[in-house]
Order: sequence, then structure tokens, then C-alpha cells
Amino acid sequence: MTPAQKLLKLHQKYDTKNLCELKNTATQAVFGDGNPQAEVVFIGEAPGKNEDLSGKPFIGAAGKFLSEMLESIKLSREDVYITNVVKYRPPNNRDPLPSEKESCRPWLEAEITLIKPKLIVFLGRHAMSNFFPEEKISTAHGKLLHKKIPGIATTYFLPLYHPAAALYNGGLRQELLKDFKQIPLVLKKISKDT
Ligand code: URA
Repeated sequence: MTPAQKLLKLHQKYDTKNLCELKNTATQAVFGDGNPQAEVVFIGEAPGKNEDLSGKPFIGAAGKFLSEMLESIKLSREDVYITNVVKYRPPNNRDPLPSEKESCRPWLEAEITLIKPKLIVFLGRHAMSNFFPEEKISTAHGKLLHKKIPGIATTYFLPLYHPAAALYNGGLRQELLKDFKQIPLVLKKISKDT
């Protein structure tokens, strides 16, 4: 089986056995998308309306902004892997509940275990707090975190502001653009250390 086939099988397995209540209201699961052997995995919060309808993560306004930022560091969506903490759209885009995040946690861990990225980039506080509940996005954004987390082989994490939060807030947008530019440097540093 190719890495892409393995990943598809993984998604189908976790979607089928998932007991998340959001399955009752979502159109479909939104599987993570991109390179199954990516060095960098981006984790967002949960699918929005466009993602729910299409089945692909980050394809709305926030996704377009994310693609532009990737281009600015000479990466394409095909180079990286993009997924979400919660794979089903919460009604009216409300924040996912702790129980909903919990239901998708084994799925997210399995994706990371298969892909084995060098670096995990958190898009926003929901993704970060899943792994670093003690951190605040206002102080942790743009800072490389290093931690051994049970169930996760990757030990380097970079929290960023969520592109949707930064889209219409000039200050956050500047911070996000600045932090995003660090990704190539961080990858170089990690490669030297490992
Ligand atoms: N926001 C997210 O966190 N994830 C998506 O897939 C789209 C928007």
C-alpha cells in the first residue's frame, strides 16, 4: 500500500468508528489533506461551512489566506499536510466541546503517527490547547515548543494565530505573517538538532 492509500484507510476507519455527536449534524467528515509524508503538519480547529460541503479542510477565506502564506515561504498545499482537531463541522461554527475534541483525539494521533512530521504547526488556540493546555496563544504564538507528549512521536510544535482570526484584524495579521516566515528557519534548526 502507498502512504496515501494507508492514510485513506486510516481516515475511513476512524470516521466509521467515531461516536462524535457532530456526525448527526455535519454533512460529512473532513479528512486531513496533503502530503502523507509531509515534514510539516498544520492543525486547525474544525471544518466550517465550505469545508463541510466539500469534504476538504481550509478551502474558505481562511484557507485561501493559509495557501498564500504557504506560497510566501515557497511551499504549496501539496508539500504539507493540513488537518483539524475535530473532523466534523460544529453547528453554526460554534467552538468544539471538550467531548467532541476527545472523540477525534485518537484519529488525530493516528494521523500524526503515520505521517511522522518534524514539526506540528497549531493554527489557533484550540489546536494548541489540545496539547499545551497551560499555554496562552497571545504569548506562545511564534515560539517553538519542545515536548514529549504520550502518543505523539513529533516533539516540536509551533503555535500560530488562526488565519480566520487574523483575516480581519490588522494587528494579528502582521503577527501571523511574521510568525509564519519562521517556519523554514525552524525546520532548519530542527533538522540540525535531530
Ligand atoms: N477553520 C479551521 O479551523 N479549519 C478548517 O478546515 C477551516 C476553517
